[in-house]
Amino acid sequence: MSERGLLIVFSGPSGVGKGTVRQEIFSTPDHKFEYSVSMTTRPQRPGEVDGVDYFFRTREEFEELIKNGQMLEYAEYVGNYYGTPLTYVNETLDKGIDVFLEIEVQGALQVKTKVPDGVFIFLTPPDLAELQDRLVGRGTDSQEVIAQRIEKAKEEISLMREYDYAVVNDYVPLAAERVKRIIETEHFRVERVIGQYDKMIAETNVIR
Ligand code: 5GP
Repeated sequence: MSERGLLIVFSGPSGVGKGTVRQEIFSTPDHKFEYSVSMTTRPQRPGEVDGVDYFFRTREEFEELIKNGQMLEYAEYVGNYYGTPLTYVNETLDKGIDVFLEIEVQGALQVKTKVPDGVFIFLTPPDLAELQDRLVGRGTDSQEVIAQRIEKAKEEISLMREYDYAVVNDYVPLAAERVKRIIETEHFRVERVIGQYDKMIAETNVIR
């Protein structure tokens, strides 16, 4: 039996801690889904590895992939492109393996129109002041970029209504645990399993 895998879209405002929660989720082997490495045109940060954290590409290379229909979704975010390469996602789902995307909200909304039966999980900050502190504490962005990110976060929080689940990032290990439980539970939804049972009902002959 080769059921298609679930597409899990993990999203939320900038600086809410999506990357940290995602790393926590993948730091233990108790999950069966795979992470889809994104592509970006933003400069590589110290410690980041090409092909592990992102595929780092030039704008020209990225635009070529968009033109050829090779991105599931993409967004221009604070002056750089970010996107999800399509082939890896399709091949993995076809093998019956769930795929986990960690992407910003514009991209998540694009995925929703293309893959409406995906699982859409929104990570929320406990409050906006904390979000601002976290962006400053991370120390990777200028003051101007942080201001842009906070403005964007305000707009983005109101997009929560487009998602299936909202998870508060009050404590990273707990947020990671909640996300894993949501994914596990999704597999038990009647609409996801009823096809198998309909087939079983049709194929099973009663012994008289
Ligand atoms: P950062 O530059 O901090 O690594 O990422 C900036 C934002 O881009 C984050 O909100 C991150 O989740 C988002 N992002 C990372 N990969 C993708 C992607 O493939 N598509 C989209 N739409 N956003 C992404």
